[in-house]
Amino acid sequence: MGADNWAYCPQCRVKAIKAKEKLYDKADKAYGKKPASEYTAMLSEAEQPIKLDQTLREDYGIGVGIDGIFGVNYTASCTACDFRFEYNKGDIRAVDIAEDYVQDAENDNPFGYNYKRPFRFDGADY
Ligand SMILES: [Zn+2]
Repeated sequence: MGADNWAYCPQCRVKAIKAKEKLYDKADKAYGKKPASEYTAMLSEAEQPIKLDQTLREDYGIGVGIDGIFGVNYTASCTACDFRFEYNKGDIRAVDIAEDYVQDAENDNPFGYNYKRPFRFDGADY
């Protein structure tokens, strides 16, 4: 399945900046000690723009479930480094529904635990 979005990875960004800092440090240390052409080449390499790819895969969902609970879930994972982040929250009641009518998914009872009549739905995934 495809990702909901691809974005730039914050951890890869910091790693790229740190790598550039090392190149600048290396050039600074070479100043006056190495031939000018070598120093200039090192500085030139440090001054090259940082290129980042959109390696951060984002998947998310948001909405009110059939049980009346509002939820949001978000996952981000980078394909280039070990960065991973998850946020899942689903404990806000968006509408006041009597417990009898709340879907009881664990018991595979879509009509609630206290139903007395054989309510039927039209076959869709409610
Ligand atoms: Zn990354």
